[in-house]
Amino acid sequence: GKRNGRFQFLLAQDVARNSGTADRMSIRNRLSHAINNGLIEPYLQPIFDTQTNRVVGMEALARIPDVEGLPKVGPDVFIPVAEDLGIIEELSEVIVTGAVEFQKHLASVGFDLRLSVNLSRRVLYSDRLIDSFHALLEKTGADPKQICLEITETLAMLDIKNASERLHELKKLGFKIAIDDFGTGYSTLGQLYEIPVDELKIDKLFVRRIHTHEGQRIAEAIVSMARALHLEIVAEGVEDLETVNLLRNMGVRYLQGYLFSSPLNREQFEAQLRGGFNAAV
Ligand code: C2E
Ligand code: MG
Ligand code: MG
Ligand code: MG
Repeated sequence: GKRNGRFQFLLAQDVARNSGTADRMSIRNRLSHAINNGLIEPYLQPIFDTQTNRVVGMEALARIPDVEGLPKVGPDVFIPVAEDLGIIEELSEVIVTGAVEFQKHLASVGFDLRLSVNLSRRVLYSDRLIDSFHALLEKTGADPKQICLEITETLAMLDIKNASERLHELKKLGFKIAIDDFGTGYSTLGQLYEIPVDELKIDKLFVRRIHTHEGQRIAEAIVSMARALHLEIVAEGVEDLETVNLLRNMGVRYLQGYLFSSPLNREQFEAQLRGGFNAAV
């Protein structure tokens, strides 16, 4: 139940913290090097609309450059380290601003896409949260209705009262709110009702299991919960056509996953967008 979920969350944080001093140093060095040299960048993954058969959105996902001879380090690893080191706000600013500017650029060449960005714990609870998102809108002239801020279900439920307060303030600025990795954080209908949410993203764990009878039932339960709350639904981790059909039949409108495209840098994303992405789907 709830306790177990929280325990797993804390455990995951510990693993990130204790993953060897040498590892942490090298990740820290790579992070600060990337930030100081403007090398950290948003990659974009398309979000596909099953009603119109078009790409209607994109999620920004942070990437740092690979270093020859060292293992690849993804955001699952470096975001918690950036949180610990107190540089997450800086990182987040680079990703969000870069992604919003890119969204603007795409609009100027005829592609109006919604943008989703991820908010970490420290960013959500930062004293500068509202000021910095307000400044972002002023600086870029972006339409907040076209920007969706994602927080994980676990983060939302960890301190629902404060999270809800923060999300209400962001909603007042006009942003959309999504609960990410939904299904992994044990929230109840009542709790979801309390927070101002527009969208649920079904965690890829459940999408992967959708072929099984039980997995299908769980996905259906999530979908009916979302429907009861009038929320949009996005399924993440869609890797094959069978999954597309199962989700489509359940009434899941938006899909994201390797089947359509893995996350791409801005140049690659624009090229794929012009080519229609995976038009076969
Ligand atoms: P997320 O927000 O749930 O993002 C979805 C993750 O699933 C991404 O991993 C994406 O590359 C991966 N994915 C997409 N399609 C598929 C698929 O078909 N199959 C599988 N197996 N995976 C797929 P990524 O980019 O490694 O990011 C991991 C997590 O790191 C994100 O999960 C998000 O929580 C966090 N993250 C990434 N960028 C940022 C950021 O700029 N800020 C913050 N705060 N968190 C970020
Ligand atoms: Mg996300
Ligand atoms: Mg997710
Ligand atoms: Mg995740």
